[in-house]
Order: sequence, then C-alpha cells, then structure tokens
Amino acid sequence: MLDKQYDIEVAGLYKIYPGGAVGLNGVDLNIEKGSFFSLLGPSGCGKSTLLRILSGLEAPTEGNVQIRQKNVQSTAAHKRETNLIFQRLALFPQMTVAKNVAFGPRVHGKSKAEIKSIVAEKLALVELSTMADRYPHQISGGQQQRVAIARALANEPAVLLLDEPLSSLDFRLRVQMQHALKQIQKNSGTTFVYVTHDQVEAFTMSDSIAVMNAGHVEQVGSPLEIYNRPTTEFVAAFVGDTNIFRGKSQGLTLHADGLTIRLTAPGSVVTVRPEFVVIAVSVESDLPNRYRGTVVDVSFGGSRVRYEIQLAGGRRVLAERSTYESFRPETGQQIECGWTPEAAVVLTH
Ligand code: ADP
Ligand code: MG
Repeated sequence: MLDKQYDIEVAGLYKIYPGGAVGLNGVDLNIEKGSFFSLLGPSGCGKSTLLRILSGLEAPTEGNVQIRQKNVQSTAAHKRETNLIFQRLALFPQMTVAKNVAFGPRVHGKSKAEIKSIVAEKLALVELSTMADRYPHQISGGQQQRVAIARALANEPAVLLLDEPLSSLDFRLRVQMQHALKQIQKNSGTTFVYVTHDQVEAFTMSDSIAVMNAGHVEQVGSPLEIYNRPTTEFVAAFVGDTNIFRGKSQGLTLHADGLTIRLTAPGSVVTVRPEFVVIAVSVESDLPNRYRGTVVDVSFGGSRVRYEIQLAGGRRVLAERSTYESFRPETGQQIECGWTPEAAVVLTH
C-alpha cells in the first residue's frame, strides 16, 4: 500500500497573542494531499489563527509547519505554496473577470500565452467561461465567489485556504456554492483547507474534518466518523443534538441518572443520537435499553419530528423520528422509548 502523502504537517503548534489570549493550544495535524479538509468549531476556537499561520500571515509562538515536506518557518506569506480566501473577496472592481484571474500569473511574470491558457482553464473550472469580459458588478454574488476562487487557483497553489468564504451568502446560494466548491476541489485536485463553524457545511463538503475546541483539535475523521463515532462529549454535542449519559460503569452496564444502560463496550460517558431512540406505546420487549416516560415536548421540523421525553426518574431524552412514522404521540402522552446497546457510543471524556 502506498503511504499517504501530506500537503500540510503541523506539529506542536501554539499561538499566544500579545496580552495572553490563547489562539492555539497545541495542535498536531496532517492534511492529505488532494483532499477537502475542514476545520470545524465554534467561534473563537482558533480556526482562523491556524489558517493564518499556515498562510504565513501570522507566526506561531511555538511549533512547526511543513508544506509539501518543506519547513516554512522562514518562508514569507507571498512565497508559500498557499493562497488564502476570506469572506470578503476584494475582487478588483475596475478589472474584468478575466483580468482578475490573470492578475497572479501576470505578477509572477508568466508569458502572454501562458496567462491566456491559465485564465481559460480556471474560468472553465469554475464554469464562468462565458463571463470573462464582464466586470465584478455585472455578475452575481455567487459568480463573484467563483471568480475569487479562480483567481486564487490561477496561482496554482499547493493548498487553497478558505476562511468561512460562504458565511455572508443567503441560505440557497450557500448550498449551491457548497456543491460548486466541492466540484471545483475535485476537478482541480488542489488541497482545500476550509474553515467553518457550520457542521452541515463541513459534512456536505469534506473528505476529512478536524473538530476544534479552545485552541486544540478534539478529533479528526471523515464526516461519518465524526458524526457516528465521536470520541468526546464536545464533538458529540457540537455536530448535532444528542443525549449524553454520564455515570458509573460496571462491565457493560452504565448506571446514569437512575437508568441502567446496556453497552457494547465499557465506559462511563456515552452519547445516543436522537434518531436512534425509538418510541412506541410499548417498544419491543427484547430491546435491552427500554424506559417508560411522558412526552413533554413535540416539535415539528418538516421531514422530522422531535420528541422530548421525561423518564420516570426525571431524566429527559430526545428522540427524532420521521414525520411519516405512524406513531405520533402528543404532549402529555405516556409512552416507552429505548435504544440498542450499539446506539450508545462510548466517549473518552
Ligand atoms: P475562530 O476563527 O475559530 O473564530 P480565532 O482564531 O479568530 O477563532 O481566535 C482564537 C482566539 O484567539 C480567540 O480567543 C480570539 O479572541 C483570539 N485572537 C484572535 N486573533 C487575535 C489577535 N490578533 N489578538 C489577540 N487575540 C486574538
Ligand atoms: Mg475565524
């Protein structure tokens, strides 16, 4: 088997800002060549700090960054094989789309013929070939985004760094652009490092996600791993609503909040996703984790319905079911709920 190739290798990275604010608190991260990699986490967790350090706009307090196996400690931002795209695009308003895209190659002294072919190739990549002669104010917001990406890719960077580039767009356009970006990334083969605080966005676009919290990386994995196999309570709760049970474990049993929960692996903290919680007048009697309770809240969310169920001992549990399930209890109704031992994922902390 071939070893994985990494475009970015980060080791022991710390950033303490003057004044003492902690930007990064010990980050180790490898980013695979050609992948769509997202940094996901709440505001203030250090995503932009990490991106700026990768780009060379900011120096780490401690630690090491390699881009394509080369130490870049002393490489200035404009000499690095990275390109950074922000939320505010700053296209040149007085230049056509084609001239905007040609800007980088021109500065780098490419020949006329080379520039022409780069511009044609990058505009085709972002599906804007027919708009080459328009000015930024003559195209839509989504098209401006794509010009900005074409302009960055025209420098042929090893890695494109994107800091929440879609956050100012309305919902529909954002979803459209997510698909477009993913397509552009695949077709260009360029490594994308994408910063977002939106888990759905990260899930939709990424090959791999690093979930960040308070200046460090909590977990790295595929979207499916992050969602289905979170390793910490922070990750489990950040990437979707969930039920967390914390208690005393005894073999494959967890005693938490007055409940006895059967597990498939020993652990004292577990997460159960609401969609794994089944509800019925009485659930299957062979379901090992089975509890009586009262529905205390029902919220209709279109294709899904969420139920909050208060169990006998007072603990509340969230269940999420399809709107099209025939059992649709109402607030105040006595029901049973339950989940399989496999549905309870053990967390490390
Ligand atoms: P994110 O992009 O995830 O929202 P940032 O990387 O911008 O987070 O910030 C991480 C932490 O570092 C925050 O606590 C923030 O206040 C702090 N920080 C960021 N930039 C600076 C700066 N230039 N000076 C001082 N503190 C900063
Ligand atoms: Mg930020």
